[in-house]
Amino acid sequence: MKEFSRSAVYSGSFDPFHLGHEDIVRRAADLFEEVVVAVGINPEKRDTFTPEEKVEMIAEVVGDLPNVSVRAFSGLTVRFARECNARVLLRGIRALADIEYEFTMSLTNSCLDAGVETVFLMAHKEYTHLSSTLIRQIAELGGDLKGFVPLPIKQRLRAKFGPNTEQRNQ
Ligand code: ADP
Repeated sequence: MKEFSRSAVYSGSFDPFHLGHEDIVRRAADLFEEVVVAVGINPEKRDTFTPEEKVEMIAEVVGDLPNVSVRAFSGLTVRFARECNARVLLRGIRALADIEYEFTMSLTNSCLDAGVETVFLMAHKEYTHLSSTLIRQIAELGGDLKGFVPLPIKQRLRAKFGPNTEQRNQ
C-alpha cells in the first residue's frame, strides 16, 4: 500500500499574515496530521516584519491548533519540505490572479523534486480580495484593518504604523 503524506508545508512571505492565510491554515489543520507554516526568509526583500517577528505573530494567531507549527526557512521550499518530512506543499489560491504564478511555481517545484506535490486550497469567498500588499498600504495610510487581519497582527501593524485615522482624529 502506498504511504500517504501526512504533513504539509504552507509557505509564504506572510507580510503580514492575514485572515485569508489564517483560514487556509485552519482548514489544512483539519486535513493533514501536521501543518508547518513556513515563513520564507528573503534578505533581498524589504519586508515590514522580520522573519522572527512573523513567526512570533503567526504562532500567536494559530497557537490553539496543536498540529500546526511555525518556522522560518531559507533556500528551496522543496528542500525545506523534505526537512519537515512533508511531501505536500500547500498553497492558497485566489480567483484567476494567482493561477499563472502558482502553476509555474508548482511545475518548477516538481522539476526540482518530483516526490513533492503542490496541493491548492481555494480561498474562502469572504477572503478572496485579501492581499498582504493592500493590507500594508491600508496600514500605512491609517485605514481600519478590521476584517483584514487577526487581532494580534492588527496590533503589531498599528504599533509599526500608528493608529488608524479615525483614532488619530479623536
Ligand atoms: P508569497 O509571497 O509566497 O506568494 P504570500 O504571503 O503572499 O506568499 O501568500 C502565501 C500563500 O497564501 C500563497 O499560496 C497565496 O496564494 C496564498 N494567499 C494569499 N492571499 C490569500 C487569500 N486571501 N486567501 C487564501 N490564500 C491566500
